[in-house]
Amino acid sequence: MSEDPEPARNISGGAAGGGSAAEFDPETAGTRAEAVVDRLGELYWTKTYGGRDALECLVRTVLSQNTSDKASQPAHDALMERYAPGGEADEEDDGGDLAAALAEADQSTLAETIRPAGLYNQKSETLIALSKRVLEEYGSAAAFDEFVREADPETVRETLMDMSGVGPKTADCVLLFAGGREGVFPVDTHVHRIARRLGVAPADADHEGVRAALERAVPEAKCGFGHTAMIQFGREYCRARKPACLDDPEACPMADLCDQVGVDLESGSVVDPADRASDDARS
Ligand code: SF4
Repeated sequence: MSEDPEPARNISGGAAGGGSAAEFDPETAGTRAEAVVDRLGELYWTKTYGGRDALECLVRTVLSQNTSDKASQPAHDALMERYAPGGEADEEDDGGDLAAALAEADQSTLAETIRPAGLYNQKSETLIALSKRVLEEYGSAAAFDEFVREADPETVRETLMDMSGVGPKTADCVLLFAGGREGVFPVDTHVHRIARRLGVAPADADHEGVRAALERAVPEAKCGFGHTAMIQFGREYCRARKPACLDDPEACPMADLCDQVGVDLESGSVVDPADRASDDARS
């Protein structure tokens, strides 16, 4: 782990992101994917996850759909200020429970509250429907949280994915950040791109294929950190259109572990690894 303390705000959520510091030994990597995660551990703060509230995790991911963190964060903060226990809407008889407060929320008021996140009508309807389901099936946000932390992970995943507006990535993020489950490597657009460029997942794999490849090759305790660190790495180095190696082959700290699938240093072109794979098959 870096000797610097984790900053209050970073992609892993700082201290508020839950979990605790962890140490990985880069000397013992058994696969290239594990070596990649260990290398990320030399760049970023290694930690485990868990401890966030499950319903709040769901709320956060719904708000972040089709928008940036910069836009969804104020919407999340305004929603929590109004509907979380102790918030403005807590005076109504909801027993100080986020699920109850959102299930009973007036849709237009909720939509107005989350306006900065965009698609606010649709997102407010999704949040009310999710909260109603949580309330009907578990009775409270706290009981839902316990289910996410303690039930069989595959059951939790399937249950979450059966909820309206929840896909595999959201389900995995809830399992990781709220449930603190090891062995879960959520795949977002950055992880999907980088794992295939590196050559640690098949070039034509979809999100589920990349998740399966990473969860097979990376030890359980390192998966959560691998997810957040790979996103940060995608923003700083292995960017979608302009990977760091394109201008300067030595600029990327991962270069010696990377197959650069879809990145042509000679011509300066960048294509999706799947397109490169289908070109190779044709030639
Ligand atoms: S060498 Fe290039 S393609 Fe590979 S991880 Fe680094 S920036 Fe991405």
